[in-house]
Amino acid sequence: MTNSQHSGSVSSDVSPWLGAQIQKVIDGIYRKYKDVDDGAVATYIPELGKADPKKFGICLATVEGEVFTAGDWDTEFTIQSMCKPFAFQLAMQRHGTEETLRHVGVEPSGEAFNSIEFDQKTGRPFNPMVNAGAIAVSSLIKQKPVQAGIEEFVDKMSDAAGRRLRIDHAVLASETATGNRNRAIAYMLLNSGIIDDEVHETLHQYFAQCSMLVNCKDLAMMAATMANIGNQPLTGKPVFDFQYLKYVMAVMFSCGLYDYAGNWAFEVGLPAKSGVSGGIFGVVNRQFGIAVYSPKLDAQGNSVRGILASKELANHLGLHAFDFSNVGSTFVQALL
Ligand code: GLU
Repeated sequence: MTNSQHSGSVSSDVSPWLGAQIQKVIDGIYRKYKDVDDGAVATYIPELGKADPKKFGICLATVEGEVFTAGDWDTEFTIQSMCKPFAFQLAMQRHGTEETLRHVGVEPSGEAFNSIEFDQKTGRPFNPMVNAGAIAVSSLIKQKPVQAGIEEFVDKMSDAAGRRLRIDHAVLASETATGNRNRAIAYMLLNSGIIDDEVHETLHQYFAQCSMLVNCKDLAMMAATMANIGNQPLTGKPVFDFQYLKYVMAVMFSCGLYDYAGNWAFEVGLPAKSGVSGGIFGVVNRQFGIAVYSPKLDAQGNSVRGILASKELANHLGLHAFDFSNVGSTFVQALL
């Protein structure tokens, strides 16, 4: 059973014929990888270990708000590291690029997400997609009281998703109780003057961001909001200041998939971000957002079926940034 559905409510962008092709591709990918059982659900945050390993969902959302889904697209999971690009965007919106880059670099680290390594020359975390960089970014977007910064983040993400999102308090408590490595990273950042001494508040902001619940459709809509130069496709609401989106997408492109980022850029070719809950979302600029969810992870912490499905989606629909045969491109559209 594919459970597939196509909202089909708005169809001014994708022709019915193309829409049917996209749905067929998504259904085919869902069927092909449905029974792949490799990998392991993350358990280092104990609450994440409760995820149902069988869940597998795919969603593609167009910049016109048309949505194509397969499988468990509506299962909720915590956003985890997939909050990082959005937090980086908000930091630049609030402080500008120059000030933000005083606290975090934009260089791929080639290291694991939780590495405790910093740029030797500047002391900055390598980029905002690894935990150290994301903690520096959380320090920039936190507010007083800390709840206000968390609410602002959830509000923005809700605007991008097009529905009200919320924090999973059990995951937040679990992360807070076990996040000693992140605590160590934060104190190193305090020591080198990258973050201020409100370390507890910074970490609370970071853990809360990671603990926000989303489903595949939310992530695809958030990605489509990025693709749509910052405007939510269905509501039309301006959510992200477009002048910073290019920076966010550039960093996602080079650093979004942990220490698999280079391979991802080569094979899939999209700005994207993965998280240890098993989600991956990608942006096809000016065209689509895509998202896959499957909680079993590979050795690098990326969703096994998420990578398989994304590769295949990119191949079938020509989504690679440097692929001229992209289904949504004017070149292909002109042939239809
Ligand atoms: N909250 C997780 C952590 O800080 C996020 C990790 C991830 O998704 O990469 O370890």
